[in-house]
Amino acid sequence: MEKVHETVLEIDLNALKENFQYLKTRVKPKTKILAVVKAFAYGSSSVEIAQYLENLDIDYFAVAYTHEGIALREAGVKTPILVLHPQSMNFKTLIEHALEPSLYSHFVLNEFIKVAHTEKQSNYPVHIKFNTGLNRLGFESDDVSDVVSILKNTSSILAKSLFSHLAASEDFNEKEFTEKQIQTFKDISEEFTESIGFKPILHLCNTSGILNYPEAHFDMVRSGIGLYGFGNSDLEDQHFTPIATLKSIISQIHTIKKGDSVGYNRAFIANKQTKIATIPVGHADGIGRQYGNGKGFVTINNKQAPIIGNVCMDMIMIDISDINCQEGDEVIIFGKNPTANAFALATTSISYEIITAISQRVKRVFLK
Ligand SMILES: *Cc1c(COP(=O)(O)O)cnc(C)c1O
Repeated sequence: MEKVHETVLEIDLNALKENFQYLKTRVKPKTKILAVVKAFAYGSSSVEIAQYLENLDIDYFAVAYTHEGIALREAGVKTPILVLHPQSMNFKTLIEHALEPSLYSHFVLNEFIKVAHTEKQSNYPVHIKFNTGLNRLGFESDDVSDVVSILKNTSSILAKSLFSHLAASEDFNEKEFTEKQIQTFKDISEEFTESIGFKPILHLCNTSGILNYPEAHFDMVRSGIGLYGFGNSDLEDQHFTPIATLKSIISQIHTIKKGDSVGYNRAFIANKQTKIATIPVGHADGIGRQYGNGKGFVTINNKQAPIIGNVCMDMIMIDISDINCQEGDEVIIFGKNPTANAFALATTSISYEIITAISQRVKRVFLK
């Protein structure tokens, strides 16, 4: 691996491929896989990730918002893209970019039909979302007959899929709740399929659902975090490889005396002579203030150095008293070891939050 001269987020595309292949071993050969590439592919880089997965014959993509889908289309991505939260003001541009909306309420369903009609569409593919317990977005179970009659009344759109989202698929203490969600989804799907007269693609599972509820894979599964290298337990994590490594360098080393302070508000006071290093990564890069004052750590030459004092906008200071290192040496914030999960656990955060927080200011570098 090349030595870096600035803070970079290194993306290992080979690891992405391995994670994808591992997920494939956990579903039936016929089960389609949708890659969730919202939020810059969980902070990595949606265009490169989508292009790479497209070459591996991924079946579907999902993004959260319309403009995220537009970015993929503008980069030449041809695979179908589901927009999870498209928002009605964007429906015309969504159609112009051949993106497929999730329709989750009477308002968005009726609005989308109006726009699809005005745009002279026929059988435009849409995805109908039902709420089975997450209580975030979705029609209710008793909306099925209503939704079906609205769909039967228009030739502008066609229900390509029917889906829902699990609330606690990673939590075995909530197994009963999840099983109830699965049953509710089955009941909705059966009623819907019977009354509309054809069977749309059915999908329910996110990464943890894929791993924990094989009986609920239906026709397609949706994976985000798994592709980026995280399972839902230490055991599962072993099957995945984190694709993103946030690395930096030591900009400067100081030796401070007992009683000297470090950083803004003098939040760290040395109780003995201390060797400290300044690293060019801060809260503007996604390392939140909660990682300061001894909570978070970085890794230099396989040794952990605690972040001391307050996290600054562009920099952190760390205690390297026990580490043999020099200015210019590489610093790992998270990656394969320690993982983003381990880094996040130093506070009360989780892998999802820290990896998606790395700001666009940090250069992305791709390893193939
Ligand atoms: C973000 C999201 C996913 C991906 O979940 P992971 O836990 O990252 O696999 C799947 N489905 C929906 C509806 C989502 O919003």
